[in-house]
Amino acid sequence: MRIIRWFLLLANLLVPLVWGLSGFSLWGAAAMFIVHMLSLWATFWPSCQWWGEVTCEFETDAPELWLTIDDGPDGEHTRVVMDVLEKSHACATFFFIGKRCHNDPGLLAEVERRGHGIGNHTQNHPAYMFWLMGPRRVSRELSECSLTIEQLAGSRPTLFRAPAGIRNCFVHPVLSRMKMNLLGWSARGLDGSCNDVDKIVARIEKRVKPGAIIVLHEGRRTDEGEPLIMKTLPRVLKIIESRGLKAVIPELL
Ligand SMILES: [Zn+2]
Repeated sequence: MRIIRWFLLLANLLVPLVWGLSGFSLWGAAAMFIVHMLSLWATFWPSCQWWGEVTCEFETDAPELWLTIDDGPDGEHTRVVMDVLEKSHACATFFFIGKRCHNDPGLLAEVERRGHGIGNHTQNHPAYMFWLMGPRRVSRELSECSLTIEQLAGSRPTLFRAPAGIRNCFVHPVLSRMKMNLLGWSARGLDGSCNDVDKIVARIEKRVKPGAIIVLHEGRRTDEGEPLIMKTLPRVLKIIESRGLKAVIPELL
């Protein structure tokens, strides 16, 4: 994968140059198009490994999977979410947005005390702009969030989830400097953009198996204004239980 990354980086630098030197030829334009399409695929396809490693599932002989919950903390509901998890003896990894953590400073320590994990989901969650950010801004988004979590929870996160799974070529060098891993997913219900509970649960159900990584989101609401996660989470936990599986926190934490 490292070879593909270097190929893409070099191609992005050299192809425009060669295109210009060739007098903006047709074949040069075709090469530019191909390089841009490959770069966009590496950036926008969440499980693509071309910019660097993304853990989308894990090897295990045990009946275990990882349940992850993005976009919190939600002062109103994160504690209720933990109550629901605990009733099913399940643990989750919460990918928190740094700037939201200060709204309820005691919550992060409580999350860890109750046996759940905390990951970095950037300081400001710039979902639409993250892929356009240069190395300094990417580094600031990640380091400010890690610092916030460390100050409030007492430990530095080792896992990162990119907003909407979108990342660019600058993210992995920052992650390796910060000794962090990028966590993707293998089972998602698209609950970030869809609020149809049946559809969300059905999409996840198809992919529940040992070694799966499930992603759900806090802060979304149903058409009736209820927290979506309170509708989806109990049903997802039932599916996990019915298949004899257990939701645990990643060893990487
Ligand atoms: Zn998010």
